Formats: sequence, C-alpha cells, structure tokens
Amino acid sequence: MNRGKGYTGIEYLRIVAALFIIAIHTSPLSSVSSTGDFILTRVAARWAVPFFFMTSGYFLISRYGRDAAELIRFVKHTVVVYGAAILLYLPVNLYNGYFDRENPAPQLVRDLIFDGTMYHLWYLPASAMGAAIAWYLVRRLDYRKALTAAFLLYLAGLFGDSYYGIVQGIPGVGGIYRFLFQLFDHTRNGLFFAPVFFVLGGCLADRGVRDRYSRRVCLENGLCGFGVSFALMLGEALLLRLFHVQRHDSMYLFLVPCVYFLFRSILYFRGRRPRYLKTLSLLVYLIHPMMIVVLRLAAKALRLQGLLVENSIFHYLAVCLLSVGTGLAAVILWERWRPLGTERPDGRDRAYTEIDLGNLEHNARVLQKAMPPQCRLMAVVKAEAYGHGAFEIAVHLDRIGVKAFAAATIDEGIRLRKYGIRGEILILGYTEAGRAAELKKYNLMQTVIDADYADALERQKVEVKVHIKIDTGMHRLGIPAAECGRIERIFAMKYIHVCGLFTHLCCADRLTPEDTAFTKGQIDRFYDLLAVLQADGIPLPKIHIQSSYGLLNYPDLRCDYVRAGIALYGVLSSPRDKTLLELDLRPVLSLKSKVVLIRSVGKGESVGYGRAFTAQRDSRIAIVPVGYADGFPRNLSCGQGCVAVGEHRVPVIGRICMDQLAVDVTDARDIAVGDTVTLIGGSGDNVIPAPAVACAAGSISNELLSRLGGRMGSSVFL
Ligand SMILES: *Cc1c(COP(=O)(O)O)cnc(C)c1O
Repeated sequence: MNRGKGYTGIEYLRIVAALFIIAIHTSPLSSVSSTGDFILTRVAARWAVPFFFMTSGYFLISRYGRDAAELIRFVKHTVVVYGAAILLYLPVNLYNGYFDRENPAPQLVRDLIFDGTMYHLWYLPASAMGAAIAWYLVRRLDYRKALTAAFLLYLAGLFGDSYYGIVQGIPGVGGIYRFLFQLFDHTRNGLFFAPVFFVLGGCLADRGVRDRYSRRVCLENGLCGFGVSFALMLGEALLLRLFHVQRHDSMYLFLVPCVYFLFRSILYFRGRRPRYLKTLSLLVYLIHPMMIVVLRLAAKALRLQGLLVENSIFHYLAVCLLSVGTGLAAVILWERWRPLGTERPDGRDRAYTEIDLGNLEHNARVLQKAMPPQCRLMAVVKAEAYGHGAFEIAVHLDRIGVKAFAAATIDEGIRLRKYGIRGEILILGYTEAGRAAELKKYNLMQTVIDADYADALERQKVEVKVHIKIDTGMHRLGIPAAECGRIERIFAMKYIHVCGLFTHLCCADRLTPEDTAFTKGQIDRFYDLLAVLQADGIPLPKIHIQSSYGLLNYPDLRCDYVRAGIALYGVLSSPRDKTLLELDLRPVLSLKSKVVLIRSVGKGESVGYGRAFTAQRDSRIAIVPVGYADGFPRNLSCGQGCVAVGEHRVPVIGRICMDQLAVDVTDARDIAVGDTVTLIGGSGDNVIPAPAVACAAGSISNELLSRLGGRMGSSVFL
C-alpha cells in the first residue's frame, strides 16, 4: 500500500531530528551551562532516534501482510547501509586504535550486533533488530499484546539505563544486568529500546484509516499530549539526575508517550512529498561524526580552534552546516549519476487493474445502511475478491470494521487469516472432511453441504464451527429443508458446533411474477424450518439468506447477515437488471492499458489471426498489450467490444489474441502512442461499465471480473 505518499511533516521532521542528534554528539550548550546542556542533549533531543524508529515502523509494520518480503527488504537495506558506514569509519577506528587491543574479536562481535563500531552506528543494527521483533510480535499477537510485550522490553531496558541505580543493588536483579552488560554496553539497543517505537508506528498506521477524529483534532490532541509528556519527561530526568540514578540517559518512561504524541501531530502535515529529505537525513546522521573530525582538523590547520571547537555553539552550527552541505552534495550527485534502471516500475507498464478503495468503502456503507438494523454485511471475497485482489480488498474492509467474510475454499480462507483478517470467515464451498484440523487451526467456519458430510466431519473428532446450508429449491448444495430430523441431528453432534444456518436464492435477480413466487417459496420454506427447529427447543444460530440481489430485491428479511459479492464491487451482473432498491453503488475496478504502437494499414489489407478484419479504407490501427489471457474476453473480437481512449470510443478489430488486441483509431487522429486505454470502467464521461462489457461478451459481470488479473498481477490502488 502506498503509505509513503505525501507525509510532508514526517519528511521535514527527519531533518530536524538529525540536527538534534548532532546536538547530542556536540553538546552545543556545554560552554554556557551544564544543566542547560543536560536538558538539551540528554532530555530534549532524546525523541530524535525513536522518531526514526517510529517512522520506519509506520511505513513497515502492519498486522496485515502477504508475507515477510517487505521486512526482509528493510533489513537487507539497513544491513547494506550499516556495512557501508562501517567501511566509512574504518580509518577512524584504525586511528583510534580500535583493533590494537589483545583480543578484539569478542568486542567486535558485540559492536557489530548491538553497539555499533562507532558511537552513533548502534542505530542501524538496532533498527534491523527492532523491526524484526516488532514484526514478529504484531503478526503473532494483536496490537494490545504486542504493545504490552514491546513495552515490557522497554521497561527492562529502562532499568539498565536511566533507572539503573534503583536495581543495581537488588540481589539477583543487579546480577542479571551485569551479565547483560557483558553482551552489550547499553540496553538502548534493538532488543529493549527500538521495538516499542516500531510497534507504535505500525499501530498508528493500521488504525489511521478509521480514526474517528479529523486530522485537525489529531494535531491538537497530539500537541497537548506532547507538551504534557515532554514536561513529565523533563521532571523525570531532572529527578533521576539529582539522585544520581542514571547509568546512561537515553531511556525515560515518558519518552514513549512523548514520541508517540509528537508523531501523531506531525501526521497532520500532508502534501507533496519532498524528494531528497529522507536520504539527506540518513546521510546527515551517518556522516556527522566524520564531519566533527574534519572540522577539528580544519580548525587546527586554520588556527580557528577558539571559534570552531571551543565555542560549543559555533562548533555545533559548523558541524550542522558541514554535514547538511556534504549530505546535500552527495544526494544531488547521486540523483544525477545514478543508473536509470533503479527506478521501480509502478505496475502500469502493460495492462493493469485500478482499484478504487474509496468506492469499495462507500459501497460497504451503502449496503450496510440498506439492511435492517441487526443485520451485518458478510463480504464475499472469493475468487480473489471477484478479480479485485483478495488481499487489498479484505484488508481494507477489515480496517473499516467489516466483521464477517466469505470465501469459496478453505485455501482462500487460510490465506485471509495469513493476511491478518480477524473477523469470521465462512467457507461457502466443499472442503475435504480430512482437513478439519486446518479449519480449527485457522478458525474457519465450514458450510455443511449435506447430512452425510456432517457425519464425515464429526468422525474427524476435531471441533469445527459450521454453518448448515439448507436447500430450499436451488438444488446445488444443502440439506433439503424438509429433512428436519437430519438437520436437528447435526445440532446434537459432539464435535460440530453449529454457528449458522443459511440458504441461497436462485432467481432473486429477476422480478417476473413466476420468479418472485418461486423466491418467496424458498424464503417461506427456510423460515418454516426455523419455526420447526424453535418448536423443538433448538436455539437458533445466525441465519442468512440474501446475496447481492437478495438484498436489492428482498431488503426486509429478518437475517443476521447479507452475503454481498457483486454489489460490494459496485456493479450489477447485467446492464438491463432492474432492482427494487436502487442504491448508489460505485464500480471499484477499472481495467486499463495503453497504446504501444500505431501503424497504418492500406485499404484491402487485413489485421490479425484468420484475417478476420480487412480494412475498407486506409486506416490507422493501434495495438494494445492486453488479451484474453489477461481476462479480456475473446468474444469481444471483431467489433463486439470497444475501448475508451481520451474522449474517444474505438472498436476492437480482428480477433483478440492471447496477449494483445488491435483497435481502429482512423477517426481519432489525436490518439498517440502512450495514451491510456480503458477497457472496463474508468472515470469521467467516457465510462465503459463492466456489465455492458460482460453482456457484449455473452456473460455477466461476475464472470468477467473474477477472470481478470491472473497475469497482470500488479494493480494500482486509489
Ligand atoms: C458467491 C456467493 C454469494 C455472493 O453472491 P453475489 O451475487 O455476488 O452477491 C453469496 N452466497 C453464496 C452461497 C455464494 O456462493
């Protein structure tokens, strides 16, 4: 997800943080006042490094995810930067006699893993380790537990840092810390210090979407919270200093709320993303100790030590200037000379789907509003969420508070759990009874497709939750509604827990008198069965009947769920369908590509396989790199389909190939190579609705959409 876009506030604060860190290492006020220096560098500047951790956490840590690829990329990148920084400082290490001691190996290992080979480099291994720990905690536990665990680590670190004086003398505890200090110099590291800030960052990012407050209120609350916790931290630090409790001064109890509130307020500032600031702030951080050395050497050579070294304020300003200047020069050189191939493709190089998550959210709300009050939306996300991408769709719905999902297969259900979906998940289709243990492990609810299936599941002796499907006339899956005895028997089973009872309507999409009568019959048979069960003393589980058209045409049924699929994606199945409720549903998906080639074809020449198109005049033909293997139906060949380019509608000519198709642009002279082509959906005046495309191909939107995407892979999310 594109969370990195436009957090201007964060980007600028990175630079400010880097300048505060320079202050920590140069003590600007030391020649003025020692208390002032303590307050500035040992307290007021302490937010800076945790702010970096929290920023990384904000963009990296999430309870949702397909796999660990992002974490691995982050750790690799951090390790590469660390390696480069170690090499950069090797001369300084050699000059300082770092390798001169008797047996440097153990110290080197400690430094590499925890403390850094130079005093400021601990940040990089801490960042990699903190990210990995936070990632693991958040994926394994819910946020509350993950935060608790990370905060306990922080507390443990606190007693090895600025609260050490308190535990030092306690028998046992003091010993543990002394043992730990053989492994690393400080508890301010990736194990104790960093994780809590990474987790907090992820927590804010995942919650942000459904934050109840406006950004302005967040800013005000954040600033108040920051002010209060900063004051508390200052008091805390001065007390600790007064009583000589501190072994080190990086960690305070109130540092955690302080950084949290600061980060929250800074999220208020959004806008264009400044390009270089992220790299620049990292560079300033990495090179400033080098610049301190350079400045000292230069001052000595120029005999300016009095001004540039001994005057702590000028010294600080000079180091800042040198670091930012050198960093800027490096960034500009890199931008100019870097190989072009390092641009990452944005997934739009051939054909892609564009998914409007705002419209998805809108549809979910509109559908929920159309239901009776006690009824809940069960989002049907089978078949990659009808071709929209199950990961993004399910995650977004989970974020906005949808609590029930339906998948077609157990493997789809397991994938949803691995993505981080917490709500109920109902498997609508058949699952081998032998996979009962997986149903239990991933907390999935299985549809009981008939009475024998219930027996087979029961024989597995694994506790599983099920919804019993009742056949009221569709004659696909389900136990016939008349077989009350067999249905009641399932309620009495030992291992099977009946959580739901449902049926499926087979012609709720049509409003002819016969179809309406048939549907009413289905509904009556279902409610009659419920009455019998109740009369026999069986407490009713959750019940549901309607899918999209069920809701649109029979909105008043008393149910606990509506299983909405196609309507959630903002379209009807066919363009001519009329429904009782006419809701403001907005299409979520667009299929787009671009013109990659325009060629001239003389009158009488043919285009494509089978020579199915012959030009009746001298023509201009545009080639579009999308074909039936991408899910664009071959039935739309030879003028059956058309595509939108700018304000033009141009017909598909010849036969659609597996990977590309041709359109006639003779009458649209302004179409050029590189122009965006919309095949389904789009926005503005020139929209091509999915139902119309499906209809032209002799199918319904459901099939058209769910077959998209196999090869395109990457989608663009709005
Ligand atoms: C696919 C499916 C749905 C969703 O149907 P839509 O018409 O897309 O809303 C609902 N119930 C069952 C049993 C399904 O298989």
